[in-house]
Amino acid sequence: MYETLVVGGGVAGLQAAVFTAKAGLETLVLTSGDPLVCRTDKIQNLVTHERVAGDQIVETGRERVRALGGEIEEATVTDLTREGTPGPFTATTESGETHTGSRVVVATAGNLDFLEPLSEEIVYTDGREGEFTMDRHVRTDDANRATENLYVAGLANTWEYQTAVAIGDGAKAAVNLVSDSRDEAYVDHDW
Ligand SMILES: Cc1cc2nc3c(=O)[nH]c(=O)nc-3n(C[C@H](O)[C@H](O)[C@H](O)COP(=O)(O)OP(=O)(O)OC[C@H]3O[C@@H](n4cnc5c(N)ncnc54)[C@H](O)[C@@H]3O)c2cc1C
Repeated sequence: MYETLVVGGGVAGLQAAVFTAKAGLETLVLTSGDPLVCRTDKIQNLVTHERVAGDQIVETGRERVRALGGEIEEATVTDLTREGTPGPFTATTESGETHTGSRVVVATAGNLDFLEPLSEEIVYTDGREGEFTMDRHVRTDDANRATENLYVAGLANTWEYQTAVAIGDGAKAAVNLVSDSRDEAYVDHDW
């Protein structure tokens, strides 16, 4: 049983996992397929880099998650279920494996079909029209919560199609997840 399952290992999911792993929560990232950011090799609008390739962000993110004690498994999640609220959740993968977690961060951009079993708990909003935009997003509160113990980040949550937004949104979801798990405001200072 993990304390945090992250579904989707793009920039939003990896950033969320870096936070939860660093906070000491047992964290598993389940992901398959290339993150969208890997389709560009010249992101130029991040405050940390003059120019950076998407592949490099993802590779560094995966290294950071593992260095902090998190796990990453290549797997497509087909169903996310729970028997009653507050959980725990069970993520079933294409191969039939199951993983349980007390809390979940969804960061799968436009792929939200695996949330179907939770349809009574989750509300969607329409996506914005545009060339690269998603059809729909999960509606969340100000703390990225879609429902109790389920957080959503990046393009799964917001239409703003920017790497910096997805990274920040992953961090925000995770800070709130850790705060909820401790029942106090979580502050992570690297002194
Ligand atoms: C061609 C292109 C150029 C871009 N250029 C820029 C740019 O210059 N500057 C900028 O700021 N942004 C740019 N972006 C946008 C940026 O890449 C995205 O906004 C950002 O990467 C979204 O991150 P995310 O984590 O929400 O989603 P993603 O990066 O898509 O991550 C989601 C991950 O979840 C996986 N997944 C989906 N469903 C499942 C499932 N059921 N089980 C397991 N895993 C699953 C996906 O395969 C993927 O790996 C560009 C995007 C594209 C496509």
